[in-house]
Amino acid sequence: MEKTYDVIIVGGGPGGVAAAYLAHKNGLSHLLIEAGKAVFHGISTTYPEGKNVYPSKPKEDPEPFLVEELRPPDKPVTVEKYIQYVQHFVQHEGLNVVTETAFEDIEDARDHLKVVTNKGIFRARKVLLAFGSSIPKELSVYGDAKMVAKTLDDPRKYLGVRTLVIGGGNSAADVIISILKAKRSENDKEPVYWAHVAETFDVNKETAQRLGEEILLGGNIRLLPGATPRIGEVDDEGVDRLVIRVSEDKLPGGIERYHAMSFPMKNVIACIGSQGPISVFDRVGVQTIACAEGVCKVAKEGDRLLLLTSEFESTRKGVYVIGGAISPSYMRISQGSIQEERHPNLIHTAVNDAHHVIDAIRGKIKG
Ligand SMILES: Cc1cc2nc3c(=O)[nH]c(=O)nc-3n(C[C@H](O)[C@H](O)[C@H](O)COP(=O)(O)OP(=O)(O)OC[C@H]3O[C@@H](n4cnc5c(N)ncnc54)[C@H](O)[C@@H]3O)c2cc1C
Repeated sequence: MEKTYDVIIVGGGPGGVAAAYLAHKNGLSHLLIEAGKAVFHGISTTYPEGKNVYPSKPKEDPEPFLVEELRPPDKPVTVEKYIQYVQHFVQHEGLNVVTETAFEDIEDARDHLKVVTNKGIFRARKVLLAFGSSIPKELSVYGDAKMVAKTLDDPRKYLGVRTLVIGGGNSAADVIISILKAKRSENDKEPVYWAHVAETFDVNKETAQRLGEEILLGGNIRLLPGATPRIGEVDDEGVDRLVIRVSEDKLPGGIERYHAMSFPMKNVIACIGSQGPISVFDRVGVQTIACAEGVCKVAKEGDRLLLLTSEFESTRKGVYVIGGAISPSYMRISQGSIQEERHPNLIHTAVNDAHHVIDAIRGKIKG
């Protein structure tokens, strides 16, 4: 019979790692599910190279860091050093982590919850969602092109193939730069196509300079402004492909004439930005509430905030949410009233949330 974990933790950022560590320390069986190649994938793909990590604390928060082991040092270290320390810590403590496993949904069973992932179903008594604030947007055509919110895990995967990068901003440009670099180092002449729905690309000066440098050094890039992904299709050989319309004109009689290109989905990278986690909350069926006029101080009118108890349990029993996923504020249910609670997106907050949740879960499971 398959194992039922006391707690499954989704997301291996500071919140998720703290939760796994505390579960382990308190004798709760746990499994941490991380979509990236290693824990702290979120941080490693969003912080600029060499950035210092600070042990910042929200103003007016009386709580110290509740998991000292994960506290960034007072004398700031670079993000690379901090990640290296945490990955070593996870290994040393023997935490139970599966990587490259993406959470999809939660289903109810009679006496447990089923956590659905792209690698199969896991069973748990409690589920802790700690997937942070930045969820890559979906490309709304059929197929499974790689969705990238910020940077690419491994540009070498695109060696020897014609690659299509979709998106007009800095993340798309960064992905292109890293692929061009990898191709240059292997003398690979296959081009990278850069498509964007608008007619102009919108990158900052620093990124434009780095991109220009790659092009001058021989980077083979083809621009496709005004291009729209249209459909996904399966070709005669059973390969998933993306069809992108690169130009069109209208002829009399309602006829449209267009040129399109078709790429194997596995060579398509969509950098169409990130979104808040609301769509995931909707999928999972945890309740949110919209801020009415004059009610919220942090959120704007109309923003939807997650409803949570003071122990971070959502309206779905046994499902908890912490960290960046509920920043910058959520609605706290406490003694019959509901109030907006400020929740700054910091390592301190994510780690301390984990502490409170694991305390609560331990109380419920171990009595
Ligand atoms: C540029 C930058 C600099 C910052 N500097 C600081 C600083 O100096 N000090 C500080 O305190 N804070 C800083 N922050 C904020 C801090 O990084 C966040 O508050 C913190 O990372 C939130 O932790 P988390 O565990 O909630 O989420 P995250 O760190 O975002 O981790 C979430 C994890 O979940 C994974 N995940 C997402 N979706 C899925 C899925 N479907 N299935 C499985 N796994 C999934 C992600 O890959 C990721 O690894 C900074 C943030 C940024 C962007």
